[in-house]
Amino acid sequence: MNRRDFLKILGLLALSPKRIYSQKNKTKDIIVVGAGIIGSSIAYELSKRRTNVTLIDKNKPGSGCSGSSFAWINATYPKEPYSYNLFSQLGINAFHLMEKELSLDIKWNGSLEWSSNIKDQNKLIESIKKLKSYPKFPPTEIIGYKKAEELEPNIKFKSNKNIIFSKSDGAIDPKDAISKMIRRIRANGGLVLYPCKFERILESNDSFTKIKTSTGVLKCQNIIFCNGTELDDSFGTKFLKKPRPGVIIKTEPTRSLINSIVYGPQIHAHQQRNGQLIIGEQITAPLKESSKNHLRRINKHFKNMVKTRNDLNASQILVGWRPIPKDDLPIIGRFKNKSIYLAVMHSGISLAAIVGSLVTQEIVDEVDSLLLNDFRPSRFF
Ligand SMILES: Cc1cc2nc3c(=O)[nH]c(=O)nc-3n(C[C@H](O)[C@H](O)[C@H](O)COP(=O)(O)OP(=O)(O)OC[C@H]3O[C@@H](n4cnc5c(N)ncnc54)[C@H](O)[C@@H]3O)c2cc1C
Repeated sequence: MNRRDFLKILGLLALSPKRIYSQKNKTKDIIVVGAGIIGSSIAYELSKRRTNVTLIDKNKPGSGCSGSSFAWINATYPKEPYSYNLFSQLGINAFHLMEKELSLDIKWNGSLEWSSNIKDQNKLIESIKKLKSYPKFPPTEIIGYKKAEELEPNIKFKSNKNIIFSKSDGAIDPKDAISKMIRRIRANGGLVLYPCKFERILESNDSFTKIKTSTGVLKCQNIIFCNGTELDDSFGTKFLKKPRPGVIIKTEPTRSLINSIVYGPQIHAHQQRNGQLIIGEQITAPLKESSKNHLRRINKHFKNMVKTRNDLNASQILVGWRPIPKDDLPIIGRFKNKSIYLAVMHSGISLAAIVGSLVTQEIVDEVDSLLLNDFRPSRFF
């Protein structure tokens, strides 16, 4: 889908201006709190429009969940309601456009998923049936191990006849994407400040918000909170579940082993164009274990799944903390008053590009996007 058609669809799904703001034609001062993939994408899209955008982070950009993510862009699971899955599908389209604009390094080789456990394997097949019952679904088929081996000659599929092949999926390097977004935000005249910690709201109403940060007081017409797991700390709310940790291993560049995203027994992996392997595991991180044990455990699963004699040569063993809303659905929209906006979600890598476009549309064009109707913070209060 080209840019014009994509924007046309987003436009069609935007409800006409409600004139909820009084300043439609003025250049807005907008602060985005949190330079993960969500905040950076929103600030990037805002910087392309007539806004004065300032992106702040208490640490380095990408140092939160985004930097320790598996970073699989997908719409493979039949998430409910259907609007959530559709949102993820449009997320893939949005990334194709952003990829061109920012020369992002995304490998669009699809994903292969299977399980060695019969019960889980049956669940997977059921989930694909459900996905295909949706009015629109991504190109997905069930293939046997012979075809899968043609796609991934170094993976042991062990005669599995039911491997889910989701063709439109991709894998991204989120830190690289964030730094490219930040470079462009600055080139477009936006500010990116770090370390700069949001501390508290000093004053806020429908037209402006004044905040205290670790480096001084800032005032803006709109403030967008993209601070992931720390959202509830900012407002004393209980919108999120306890964050769920996951181990991610990144290796030194190695010979080409994996083309797509392989989601097999116990672990999932992909390989970046520079040869670096990215490996995550299905279980929640056993936090009592040392990094050495994480590596030992994942290395064993890796050699069980991949035809290689070499042990993983880890360059980083990370534990990422997922921001997960109470009902698992993204939290996107206005909160408390019209100058405060929230954007926090799991699967934030898959959704980052579409979220950047839609939040910018809502704030700059002063519309409500129908695509975001099911994700409003107001469902919690
Ligand atoms: C192991 C693992 C695997 C995952 N795999 C996938 C996957 O394959 N596909 C997918 O789509 N999603 C995946 N996710 C989820 C995805 O990574 C997250 O949804 C996404 O990274 C969230 O991005 P974010 O920008 O909202 O949050 P973050 O990246 O956490 O960014 C929030 C930022 O806010 C800053 N901040 C916090 N408080 C303040 C403050 N007071 N002042 C200023 N700055 C502040 C932080 O420093 C941080 O940089 C995975 C997550 C994990 C942990």
